[in-house]
Amino acid sequence: MSSPAESSPGLAPLKITCTSADCDNDLHCFKFLRRTMSPAEKGACRYCKVQLVDWDKMRTRSLNDLDQKFRALQSEMIRHHFWHKDIDEAALLHARRKGLDRLREAATTRLQNSVGPAQPPRDGQQTPMQGNILYYAQHATASCCRTCMEYWHGIPKGRSLSDDEVEYFVELAIRYVAMRMPLLPAAPEKIPRRRYAKPRGSF
Ligand SMILES: [Zn+2]
Ligand SMILES: [Zn+2]
Repeated sequence: MSSPAESSPGLAPLKITCTSADCDNDLHCFKFLRRTMSPAEKGACRYCKVQLVDWDKMRTRSLNDLDQKFRALQSEMIRHHFWHKDIDEAALLHARRKGLDRLREAATTRLQNSVGPAQPPRDGQQTPMQGNILYYAQHATASCCRTCMEYWHGIPKGRSLSDDEVEYFVELAIRYVAMRMPLLPAAPEKIPRRRYAKPRGSF
């Protein structure tokens, strides 16, 4: 049994990637690793081999048991990171300027374009890590690329997403936004742009 955390005892990894794990703190990595895992172990943590996710249920794409699905997503370290890390300033302002209703429209467009096509351009790199709360939502809910969507949600690669599927991921994203920014109004907020504001006393 080995996990990346063991190589740096007491230190949290500086850079979290999709193969990070900290199994002792119940943060795993469910990415399959052909080199060290048998096909029967698919779905288990690649390091400690624990089976935590009810994959059949996860892949139903039903909105009925979202609490359970969100818990499962958070048991993977990379997703846990995006469920809990601070939302950057630009993304917060962007979300407030849009409001929840327009964010929902933006999520539809974003999902259709970034992961909707049968062969999305730059698949695996099309979802930035910051700057827009919808990016956070996509990483958190595993709709960031077609590999994650196949693994977590059972959607095969090589075909475009149906409208129902896009709608499902929009719903996951919007629930994520509502959980991370519970006070976000539905309507857009007018926030003046002060991009280059200098700290007081500076020239
Ligand atoms: Zn593990
Ligand atoms: Zn992904």
